[in-house]
This record gives sequence, C-alpha cells and structure tokens, in this order.
Amino acid sequence: MTKKTRSRQHLARRLSERVLRDDACPACGVTMKERRSKLVLPVNGEEIVVPGAMHLRCPSCREVVLRFGDARRLGEDAIAIYRKRHDLLSAAEIRAIRKHYDLTQEDLARLLRLGANTLSRWEGGRNVQTAAMDVLLRLIRDLPGSVDYLRTHAA
Ligand SMILES: [Zn+2]
Repeated sequence: MTKKTRSRQHLARRLSERVLRDDACPACGVTMKERRSKLVLPVNGEEIVVPGAMHLRCPSCREVVLRFGDARRLGEDAIAIYRKRHDLLSAAEIRAIRKHYDLTQEDLARLLRLGANTLSRWEGGRNVQTAAMDVLLRLIRDLPGSVDYLRTHAA
C-alpha cells in the first residue's frame, strides 16, 4: 500500500465519522422528530412568535434544526406577523400598489432611490419596509400624481 492510498483511506474514514444522517441531531446524533409548533424569530430586534412552524427537534437534547424550506417559510411568516402588528403594508399590498401604476420592481426602486433588489425582498416577504418607506408607499397609493412627481425628481 502506497503512502498516498493510506492517507486517502484515512481521509475517507475521518469523513464518514463526520457525516450525519439527514434526521440526526447535529449536537448528539439522536434521530430528530418532525414537529409543528411555535418558534420565536427576531425581526428588527423584536421577538416574533410564529405558531405552527415546521422544524426538527431532538427528543434527547432539545436541539432545533430547520430545513432550508422550513427556515424560509419561518422567516416569511415572522415578517408577515411583524407587518400586521405594526400596521405596515403587506407584501401583497406593496405589489398591488406597484402594479396599479404599471411599474416594474426596478422602476419603483429607482423612483424611491432604493437598492435594485429591495422591492423583490419586500414583495417576497424576505425583508420588511421601514415605517418611513411604508408612509411613502401609502402616499403613492392614495395621492394622485405622486408617481408623476417622483418621476420628475428621479435621479
Ligand atoms: Zn440532540
């Protein structure tokens, strides 16, 4: 056996010791159980309780693990709850305002001098608008001529 083969076998053994089954607890290795219950997620520094959040929980050490899709869903739900609590426009309402004026996400971002992907994150529930931006969006919705005004002042 060459030295190279030996080291490769050694590497393979080390890796196999480090590979976990999909449902194994990363902390203790016990098989985790799928659960649906409330989880707490911070949004803008505020603790948001999301009921019925899918996740894996270790019956032994209580470790909680989120699958990629579950984590995305939890984030979207937390932001929706945060918006409702602070009386901010929902993702659907923001989209409706933009569509009403036949603007693309890039158009509206440019008029409000926001980053190009900001509208996509608001409308996709991945991020939440500030209270100041919320007021501006309501002005656009409720004040005729506001989009024209923004256009004449667009950078
Ligand atoms: Zn565990």
